[in-house]
Amino acid sequence: MSEAPILKDTTRSSGREALQKKIQAAMALASAIRSTLGPKGLDKLLIDDEGRTLVTNDGVTVLETAKVEHPIAKMMINASSTQDRIAKDGTTSTVILAGEMLQNAWQLILQGIHPSTVARGYRKSEQYILQCMSEIKFEANENIKNSVVKTSLAGKGHSSMQETIARVSLDAVRMVAEQDSTVDLSKIKLISQTGGRVEDSKAFRGLMIPKKRISSNMMKTVKHGKIVLVDGGLEKSNVATDLKLNVTTVGVLESFRQEERNMLKRQVDKLIKNNVTVLACRESIDDDIKNYLAENGIQAFRRVARSDLNMLARVCNTNLINSIDALTTNDLGSFISSENTTIDGKDFWIIKGDGNAATIIAKASTADFVSEVERCFDDSIGVSIHLVEDGFVVCGGGASYVALARRLRRYAETIPGREQLAIEAYADAIEVIVRVLAENAGIDPITTLLDVVAKQTNNDSDYIGINLSTGRPSDMVELGVLEPQGIVKQAIIGATEVAISVLRIDDVLWAKQEMQMPDMPEDGM
Ligand code: ADP
Ligand code: MG
Repeated sequence: MSEAPILKDTTRSSGREALQKKIQAAMALASAIRSTLGPKGLDKLLIDDEGRTLVTNDGVTVLETAKVEHPIAKMMINASSTQDRIAKDGTTSTVILAGEMLQNAWQLILQGIHPSTVARGYRKSEQYILQCMSEIKFEANENIKNSVVKTSLAGKGHSSMQETIARVSLDAVRMVAEQDSTVDLSKIKLISQTGGRVEDSKAFRGLMIPKKRISSNMMKTVKHGKIVLVDGGLEKSNVATDLKLNVTTVGVLESFRQEERNMLKRQVDKLIKNNVTVLACRESIDDDIKNYLAENGIQAFRRVARSDLNMLARVCNTNLINSIDALTTNDLGSFISSENTTIDGKDFWIIKGDGNAATIIAKASTADFVSEVERCFDDSIGVSIHLVEDGFVVCGGGASYVALARRLRRYAETIPGREQLAIEAYADAIEVIVRVLAENAGIDPITTLLDVVAKQTNNDSDYIGINLSTGRPSDMVELGVLEPQGIVKQAIIGATEVAISVLRIDDVLWAKQEMQMPDMPEDGM
């Protein structure tokens, strides 16, 4: 039968050949970032179209920067980006897990097992191990929380840098945690500065904006007052832009200017009437009105970034207005203190409101390094949020995956038919984390995995993982190699989702254009 006309401009591949191509693409991607996993993982040097370079050890950054066209590879990258958005960490693990699940699925398909049987077995496995998480997790005390955040920074920077970033991130997250332990990420601001040591980075209570009040005649500190946030300015040009003035009589120009000043004054009078003591504008504030503001006890800031204004709105429980003319009593925010200060020679405006907020000042020696430090903070803030909100952790170093795989194999025995094989294949797949961690540390991956499994079984312990310094199986709680359970959970969910979606696609219809296919991994499949 000929192709339906509707498919005239598409290339179609289906059946086993199509599946093989999809799995190759997934594995090629996984193999591209495999070497970055774990503390001994290597960095990647990324070069963009314009020749800019970026050195990173962060899986999701590598993937999002690489220009990948293959649709399946894109699905994997999306899973990794989702992991980054939801869990902030575990992005490399997600892709490696998905690649391994698909490789093992392929082996079963070659033996004649239908992809949808494999998909069903995988789904059962996922559901089973997610239930088992409650058996291997435990609650972290404050000391442990620090180790957990440090683990998330493994392989990124040196040890004292990890120590600082972990401590500062946890400090910031605790500052914004609500009474019910929920944390709103948007209440933490990160300011990065070049010049200085990472170890001098610090978390401050309140929202900090690198600004100075517009006049030194204004009060340096104002306590317990009302604030107005203007998504515009307090300027003369607002009225005069399209005006053409015919000056015919002496004094007209002066009286026109006077009228403009009066117009600004009337706006300030409105602030005074509403007992406003702090004003922040996104655009300019006219120099002519500075003194009038100062005389009336108003502290004012101009050219405040919109992102900062939005954060101010959250901290002071209010909203932005377009101009002071539009001000109503509903647009008045409240604050506890609004203070001008200098830190290491730089001016800052620190505002504390009824809503919690925290600012991290991150320091790094060079511009290249600053972006890596920012990414580290992003990760560790994400992990700290998990810890403050949930507090349950599992062991790293591959321990939790081995513990789950051991349970899964026992479960497989209870499932009849071919799905049993799929569950076993899934158990093998999640052990990939131990193998890759060992591989990247130059340790034999197979022996390591067997040793870890044996020691977990003999000691009846879920805490044994790979100690990458000695190459021996060790207790990860003693080593302080721990991860929030939410991150491992999300990695399992994300990886399984991608693997199953790939297995479910039985037809690939390509619009007729050249698609790029990533190179095959060296060891083939
Ligand atoms: P991801 O993007 O998946 O978070 P990482 O490169 O951050 O990838 O590596 C995370 C993995 O490294 C986790 O499995 C974690 O348990 C492991 N890991 C981190 N530190 C250590 C350590 N000191 N010893 C053994 N494993 C570690
Ligand atoms: Mg990580």
